[in-house]
Amino acid sequence: MWNVDDEPLPESERAVSLTAQAGGDTEPSGAGQRSPDPVRILSEVFGYSGFRGRQREIIDCVAGGGDALVLMPTGGGKSLCYQIPALIRPGCGVVISPLIALMQDQVAALRQSGVRAAALNSAESLARNQEAERALLDGRLDLLYIAPERLMLPRTLDLLARARVALFAIDEAHCVSQWGHDFRPEYIQLSLLAERFPGVPRLALTATADAPTRREIVTRLGLERARQFVSRFDRPNIRYRISQSDAGGGSARDRLLRFIRQEHPGEAGIVYCLSRKRVEAIADWLAAQGLEALPYHAGLSVAERDRNQKRFLTGEGVIMVATIAFGMGIDKPNVRFVAHLNLPKSIEAYYQETGRAGRDGLPADAWMLYGLQDVITLRQMLDQSNADDGHKRVERQKLEAMLGLCELTSCRRQALLAYFGDDLDSPCGNCDTCLEPPATWDATEPARKALSCVYRTGERFGVNYLIDVLRGRETDRLRALGHHHLSTFGIGTELEPAEWRVLFRQLIARGLLRTDLDGHGGLSLDESCRPLLRGETTVELRRDQRPARSPRERGSRAARPAADLAPEDQALWDALRACRRRLADAQGVPPYVIFHDVTLAEMLHEAPVTLDQMAGISGVGISKLDRYGDEFLRVIRGHLGL
Ligand code: ADP
Ligand code: ZN
Repeated sequence: MWNVDDEPLPESERAVSLTAQAGGDTEPSGAGQRSPDPVRILSEVFGYSGFRGRQREIIDCVAGGGDALVLMPTGGGKSLCYQIPALIRPGCGVVISPLIALMQDQVAALRQSGVRAAALNSAESLARNQEAERALLDGRLDLLYIAPERLMLPRTLDLLARARVALFAIDEAHCVSQWGHDFRPEYIQLSLLAERFPGVPRLALTATADAPTRREIVTRLGLERARQFVSRFDRPNIRYRISQSDAGGGSARDRLLRFIRQEHPGEAGIVYCLSRKRVEAIADWLAAQGLEALPYHAGLSVAERDRNQKRFLTGEGVIMVATIAFGMGIDKPNVRFVAHLNLPKSIEAYYQETGRAGRDGLPADAWMLYGLQDVITLRQMLDQSNADDGHKRVERQKLEAMLGLCELTSCRRQALLAYFGDDLDSPCGNCDTCLEPPATWDATEPARKALSCVYRTGERFGVNYLIDVLRGRETDRLRALGHHHLSTFGIGTELEPAEWRVLFRQLIARGLLRTDLDGHGGLSLDESCRPLLRGETTVELRRDQRPARSPRERGSRAARPAADLAPEDQALWDALRACRRRLADAQGVPPYVIFHDVTLAEMLHEAPVTLDQMAGISGVGISKLDRYGDEFLRVIRGHLGL
């Protein structure tokens, strides 16, 4: 039912035509000729009252035919930056997006808003792909989503050459960077678009972009003339917390469980682990504790991964335990926490992974536990990789920077933003170092003992063995090697084994100790430790306390909007969510495609009782008002006894 396209409709009739097909999973009729006014499109189609950040500037630039490079944090609102120009400019906007799952979500959401959107990909039936192609050629499409490998097929390029293309939007543009962990070779070929389609504006969008990545995007995609729009990278609603798993306070998984139970009962979250094995173990264990936790890693079958991802997207309180294979393009808005049980490889990776929390702007947690073993494992993976030396050096520096962030004694957000060239004037007040400033201690003496012990034992033993020597623990192995006669034997009883581990980890992190390459974890001295051994420098270290009580102990009610709910609001909140759930299930789409939590929260607080009032709620555009307005009004009015 691709209708009402050719003739511009008068305003009044447009509303009628939208009403006529409200309800069900019908094809959106769209409005062939929309008002060219971005503000009106924003309000009528998307239901929002104002632009955020630099959205308006970007839209004006692209709608006017210019190229743009858009760097905006996750949740910043990148999609509107190409969706609105595509609705303004004649022709169809082509969106290149690496993930099919994400595409389908976006297309579903756009259709809910009355935008004529489709996707060309292998997950769609042949008939649907053909229908999308026909619609494109007939000028009956506003937005077309395509995966990069499909776009580059000669057949697709020919198709586009015969159609009228309004713009190209290259989403997740950092995939073009060979230094990055999301590198996609297909992205390199996208430079072709500039040659094949001169005159069609191109816009590249990403949430990850330190300066080198940004330069790479510009050169590889031929965006030298593009205007660059760099937004603030701050995600003020995310609370950052990082602590060490070796520093006491229970096993990592116990601490994770406590964190989830106390702070996020019934809420959706992602738990990242380094290895597939660990993913499986943690997912099983959480499930055994009664939580809905699912695994996701590259070793699972495609069907199983899809099933788990779908469950995560459509469920309300599902926890995804995953390797970094999971997450790019996951735009579920109400992920309330991202937990890391291992150290990420770089600050970019950390920022991107934690950025998947709280896209809806409501409070969210980035919570991480890391340990000595992570540092050793990551360094070994790097050293053993096939990458060339230059690449390894860059990666090593990135890992160092990440460790630096972990060991910080000042505001984490300030450091994180500074890494992306963004300054925050004062400490944020919403990270662990701000909330509970860490104590430091003078670790010079124990550090010298540790280094000396490494030296005396021949620079080939791992941390556990070295701690046995320092603490004077006479194991069989130690006696067999004669190490109970060493001058460093038993000189380190002042620290507990766990404290020694922290100290060793930090010496490694600072590059004073090196780990071996053969995988046995043996430590050797680095040249840079000489001044410390000679007593010319000192070391101040973070005294990692046992984890204090969590800063935000919360009750055990199910998911809630912005602030904790008053008990009298809970019933309406539950009813609104149930209504959304019903509508979503009926159409087989995730609940947030119907309305986001933020929109439901506004309904809760504003309690609209007429369609007019409902239209004023953020996130309720004309199409969704027609489709769902009455249903939600019924819930609210029923609740108010009207
Ligand atoms: P990104 O792709 O940058 O991560 P999205 O485009 O998915 O972010 O937008 C994040 C959320 O913010 C979405 O729920 C979107 O509907 C909402 N949003 C974007 N722009 C606005 C705006 N101007 N007013 C209100 N909500 C907005
Ligand atoms: Zn801070």
